[in-house]
Amino acid sequence: MNNRMFDVVIVGGGISGSALTYILSKYTDVKSIAILEKYGSLAPLNSNARANSQTLHCGDIETNYSLEKAIIVKRQANMLVNYAKTVDKNDFLYKYPKMILAVGDDECARLEQRHHQFAEAFPYMELWDAERIAEVEPAVAYKNGKLRPEKILASGCTDEYSAVNYGNLSRSFIHHARDNGTEIQVSLSSEVKKIQRFDDHYELTTPQGTFMAQFIVVSAGAHSLLLANQLGHGLDLSILPMAGSFYYIPKTLNGKVYTMQNDKLPFAALHGDPDLVELSKTRLGPTALVLPKLERYTGGTYWDFWKSLKLDRKVVRVFWDLMKDRTIRNYIFRNFAFEIPWLRTRMFAKDAQKIIPDLTPADLEYANGIGGLRPQVIDKTHMVLKLGEASINPENENLIFNMTPSPGATTCLGNAYRDAQIVVERLGLNIDKERLVNDLLDGEDLLFFK
Ligand SMILES: Cc1cc2nc3c(=O)[nH]c(=O)nc-3n(C[C@H](O)[C@H](O)[C@H](O)COP(=O)(O)OP(=O)(O)OC[C@H]3O[C@@H](n4cnc5c(N)ncnc54)[C@H](O)[C@@H]3O)c2cc1C
Repeated sequence: MNNRMFDVVIVGGGISGSALTYILSKYTDVKSIAILEKYGSLAPLNSNARANSQTLHCGDIETNYSLEKAIIVKRQANMLVNYAKTVDKNDFLYKYPKMILAVGDDECARLEQRHHQFAEAFPYMELWDAERIAEVEPAVAYKNGKLRPEKILASGCTDEYSAVNYGNLSRSFIHHARDNGTEIQVSLSSEVKKIQRFDDHYELTTPQGTFMAQFIVVSAGAHSLLLANQLGHGLDLSILPMAGSFYYIPKTLNGKVYTMQNDKLPFAALHGDPDLVELSKTRLGPTALVLPKLERYTGGTYWDFWKSLKLDRKVVRVFWDLMKDRTIRNYIFRNFAFEIPWLRTRMFAKDAQKIIPDLTPADLEYANGIGGLRPQVIDKTHMVLKLGEASINPENENLIFNMTPSPGATTCLGNAYRDAQIVVERLGLNIDKERLVNDLLDGEDLLFFK
């Protein structure tokens, strides 16, 4: 039995929990931290390199971000780049060419306008015509050996960090958290079943015993809401799990090729990426499918889904509003069809030809076991589907619950900085902001949070 008190217990050993462990150990006087992870390794689910698109989202190739959001995400992404400079072993951050590709007159006009609007914030991005695209990504520019007939334009760069193995980064955070004299206990196979509130502490029940904490941060992905609900928090929220699937083709692209987002479907634009784990393959995707479970490829969690959905009139109303929109409705049905084995490669090939015109269904292999699940949050008070992250931080409690869909891996250090400030304030401890800002934020404490 564990039965000992920690200053901070973090539930979830994904990228969010690992980043917070690092920030607390390096920049605060928190003395002891326990990380409780349900499975037998760090980053087993969404933060694993097989589960996500491995992209460092900087706001430059994500056309669904406003300029303001893009600038904030860029600063958060840059924290990872700065972290990489402080460690001796970098097996997580990589440079690949990247671009947003516009196809057809309308998209090209929109991209050109966006490129100029974003130029000051992203001075390294260049506007590429078909000939330049052909130099960087021949498979994108050519069809049947000739430049493709429709107009194409890209906003891209070749010498920036663009890909991250977030599983390796999680392990790096924990490894380096131990350099700082803080006591760190990583407890694997330790699913938190229950959290209880006492007068001056909390207790967490796990198969490895009971852990006591002065402060708890739950970064358990889609399961964070269930644990919050147990303590009476976040009852006005529901989780809508969106699974993403991918397809493999033999290595065809040299870097990341993103496409223009439809404003109504901001998580939906297809992209092609080099795979950091399967080096001989290019990965295409993701698709987006609502699944009635909270974890993608593990058994069970169906009942957890229903408990966290809390189906009622307000949730039905959100679904109804989504289905009323023709674009969204068609997209949802189309994504169900993507799961039908014979049909899916034919349908997906059609979509993916926007990126690689010569692609045929025979080139595609459904990537079995690849792709995680985004815990999108439904705000029942305002009856809307929230597309970004959600954090529950009840006043007068030493508790934080995080739900982090995309780009939650990119923003892990930014989120950790936010949470660390709350932790030290409530525990009466200190954070060395100046050192953190110098190390990770280029000397400017300019992280804005909504
Ligand atoms: C298809 C797809 C593509 C994506 N692409 C990108 C991308 O390119 N770039 C990007 O920045 N983001 C991307 N994301 C989002 C990114 O993967 C997530 O934001 C990020 O991994 C979330 O990390 P996390 O640590 O919060 O959650 P997770 O990685 O899900 O970790 C939560 C952990 O909590 C554990 N846990 C759950 N319940 C309990 C419990 N009761 N007790 C103990 N432990 C528990 C789980 O086992 C898990 O290890 C993508 C997501 C998907 C699905």
